[in-house]
Amino acid sequence: MSLGDPRDVVAAKRDGRHLPPEELRAFVQGYARGEIRDEVAAAFLMAAFIRGLDAEETLALTRAMVESGRTLPLAGVSRPKVDKHSTGGVADGVTLAFAPLAASLGLAVAKLSGRGLGHTGGTLDKLEAIPGLRTDLSPEDFERQVEQVGCAVAAQTPDLVPADGALYALRDATATVPSIPLIAASVMSKKLAVSTDLILLDVKAGSGAFMKTPEAAKELAFACSALAANWGRPCRVAVTDMSQPLGEAIGNALDVAEAVELLSGRAGGRLRELVVAFAGEALSRLTGAGMGQGRAAAASALDSGVALESFRRMVEAQGGDPRVVDDPAAVLPRAPVVTTLTSDRGGFLAAVEAEALGRAACDLGAGRKKKGEPIDPAVGIVFRPKVGDRLEVGEEIGTVHARDADAAARCMDRVRAALTITEAGAQPPPLVHGWFGG
Ligand code: URA
Repeated sequence: MSLGDPRDVVAAKRDGRHLPPEELRAFVQGYARGEIRDEVAAAFLMAAFIRGLDAEETLALTRAMVESGRTLPLAGVSRPKVDKHSTGGVADGVTLAFAPLAASLGLAVAKLSGRGLGHTGGTLDKLEAIPGLRTDLSPEDFERQVEQVGCAVAAQTPDLVPADGALYALRDATATVPSIPLIAASVMSKKLAVSTDLILLDVKAGSGAFMKTPEAAKELAFACSALAANWGRPCRVAVTDMSQPLGEAIGNALDVAEAVELLSGRAGGRLRELVVAFAGEALSRLTGAGMGQGRAAAASALDSGVALESFRRMVEAQGGDPRVVDDPAAVLPRAPVVTTLTSDRGGFLAAVEAEALGRAACDLGAGRKKKGEPIDPAVGIVFRPKVGDRLEVGEEIGTVHARDADAAARCMDRVRAALTITEAGAQPPPLVHGWFGG
């Protein structure tokens, strides 16, 4: 169908009317082709954000996005294929480690990824902190790399899900990200465009996530599972804790350095636990291994260094400097000012405003406020304590990596203000609130 005046679609959604699938499709694909102006699409996104989209509209939006470009059957990939995606969090380096880890376990990870969105980091921005690394792989190169190396992480191209690429950036710039149907369509369009044997989703819940409660996250998990079921695609969704940063690094180069630590078996903690849980789930679903067996194989691939070797091959295949796995500090960009972050109070860490930490890192330059803005790969925050930990006054709790001393001082104040420290002990929140889907 050709679209008449695109403002009619905006007006219909503004007034809370159901949009017929063909109208939604014409609008979304028209925007992806550059035929609809940003301000009109922005108004549509805000109307959809406020009014919501029902299940039929969400399905139509997803289908329009998938069909805005070509799809990737990955017929040339011989290993069992898995894709993994997070809805976004703070210090959420799971994908960065999961892809090479799963590849080292004999699986093939084919991942179209996104850039940082709002206060959350993006795997593409993180990977591009590695000098020379390219994420703009052609579909042919993407598939070849998945077959040869076992994993590839690439951006949507003009060929692949271009409508999500365009809408994702516009949502980031217009405060329209945290909408269940918009996130579900965005995430699932990228997953459904690539034919894998299993889709794994990590839907984050808590102060650092777009979904602030486990209940809202479960709703998003169901919306994503319903889309997968509609396409007949196996999909497992974990709702996981984002009420505090998952790992320690909030930035881009800092995240890569943390992933290298994890992949060398030198890091423990919640980030490792979740990476191992996802790898175990993938192995058990795709190879029939028992869950305990799958997790043990994943832990041993981290500890033996084979997962790190797989990361080296992925970095090299995408044009990045492979020495990053041997000496991240020598290869990754470094911020000119690094200050020690100390606690200004003593007591138990009871809560962390993880979004505030993400925003503070974003304001240092680690994320973008406007569509297409460059980011600073070197800056960010390392924040070590976890909820339940006892802190002493003056204790070192991390570092701030900034362009100048003023920015570092402002960031330090914001981090301290984001912490709730109490006299009474605090319980760590559960890492996984539940697994869903089939
Ligand atoms: N990740 C995505 O791919 N899309 C969103 O909208 C949010 C997180």
